[in-house]
Amino acid sequence: MRKIAIYGKGGIGKSTTTQNTVAGLATMGRKVMVVGCDPKADSTRLLLGGLNQSTVLDTLREEGEDVALEDILLAGFSGTECTESGGPEPGVGCAGRGIITAINLLEQLGAYKEEKALDYVFYDVLGDVVCGGFAMPIREGKADEIYIVCSGEMMAMYAANNICKGILKFAQSGGVRLGGLICNSRMVDNEASMIEEFAKQLGTQMIHFLPRDNMVQRAEINRKTVIEFAPEHPQAEEYRKLARKIEENKMLVVPTPIPITQLEKLLIDFGIMN
Ligand code: ADP
Ligand code: MG
Repeated sequence: MRKIAIYGKGGIGKSTTTQNTVAGLATMGRKVMVVGCDPKADSTRLLLGGLNQSTVLDTLREEGEDVALEDILLAGFSGTECTESGGPEPGVGCAGRGIITAINLLEQLGAYKEEKALDYVFYDVLGDVVCGGFAMPIREGKADEIYIVCSGEMMAMYAANNICKGILKFAQSGGVRLGGLICNSRMVDNEASMIEEFAKQLGTQMIHFLPRDNMVQRAEINRKTVIEFAPEHPQAEEYRKLARKIEENKMLVVPTPIPITQLEKLLIDFGIMN
């Protein structure tokens, strides 16, 4: 079973990209579980056809220790299995710790057990590892293969660089590796070539360039992935391509984060000067 975590700045497209890629893998016949690790609990909405109201942490609070797996792990599109860790009550406690509590409970209840023959588990994790809590899934060895969603916007690249610092820190003690950057286009000038160069400087690859397309929103309003809502649309094919590239990816590295001045130079060389 491959244990993959998707990181990236808030709003960059982690949940959308994760669910569409997972839907792509599922339609290729893979058995996939998605664990939403964002207190917003919107990581599995498109696979479930709506929000799952009962997060792991909510259920724990309401039912005590007496939780059944089927209360928190739901069947989604094309045989996927979906769960949301949820979060602490706003303003109280650490969301990162909550994620680990949720994952440990899923383990105890048999969500990962071998008989299930899962090919993949995907963790959709918010933040840019500035908060140590969100590094938990990699620190605790729950995920060992990371993809970072970014775009050619400076703050998305800045967050990606910070995430690389987090990965570097935990790669020394554990086995976590970076599988690549997923460029989710924001239509910035020279975006693909800039992110390719950025990836190279980080010691990794741009594994795929996802175009920006309104079909993503149309599918989202219908509570579906593009793969389910419009399987013939070119954007669905982009997600299937990304799914295949992840399936075949052998480039797993310890990244080399770059200094902020070098990041600024990239933006100037590819953006402002052109
Ligand atoms: P995150 O999980 O990183 O916070 P989301 O996946 O929720 O971000 O995406 C934020 C918004 O961006 C969503 O409403 C989604 O419709 C939109 N979006 C993401 N990727 C694309 C894309 N490739 N084309 C068009 N819209 C997109
Ligand atoms: Mg999200």
